[in-house]
Amino acid sequence: MPTTLAWLKSCYFSLLETRQAEYVEENVLEVIKRLWKTDVPSKINVFGWRLLLNKLPTRTALNRRGILTNSHDLPCVCCFKQLEDSAHLFFSCSFSKEVWSNVLNWLGKTLPLGAEGWYHFILFGDQFNVKDKGRVRYLVWLATTWNIWKLRNLVIFKGVIPDALSVVDAIKLFSWVWFTNPYGRKACYPFSSWCLDSLSCIQNS
Ligand SMILES: [Zn+2]
Repeated sequence: MPTTLAWLKSCYFSLLETRQAEYVEENVLEVIKRLWKTDVPSKINVFGWRLLLNKLPTRTALNRRGILTNSHDLPCVCCFKQLEDSAHLFFSCSFSKEVWSNVLNWLGKTLPLGAEGWYHFILFGDQFNVKDKGRVRYLVWLATTWNIWKLRNLVIFKGVIPDALSVVDAIKLFSWVWFTNPYGRKACYPFSSWCLDSLSCIQNS
């Protein structure tokens, strides 16, 4: 039974080798290459892969597959103003914008308005001056999108009320766990330091 990572890699290489690659933008393939190198659990790699290839089962995607057919089920559950697709849910929803704004504020970074998908991923990683440290460059991006997705599922399946600041707290915690666990950095970078100045932790890692 192959591990998830081995399975993912085989998917990636078969994607490259088959004619499907013709239909996947070169930029997306480059982004997915960078995704591999990030130090996150393999299920987060799978999530990132699906998001960047637009393969997440959003409400619009389920509608296209004939699974969700009632138009009342299609709006985004975080704002109820637009149909839920990946671009909206993760990047242009007022809720996710509030989350990103808090996260960028925490990092002391800015991103141009309107960026989404793989372009957002690249721009985000380029904010960090960590040459040869691709393993940490996208941690917070993945923690942010993962926690927006988790929140969206909690709203749908558990009736949770969306709260951007709770999501931001979860992003700080997830990214710290991913940052500290692989290299035993926990002693050097306590959670309080990560919350206060994650950028220094990343740059000095
Ligand atoms: Zn929305």
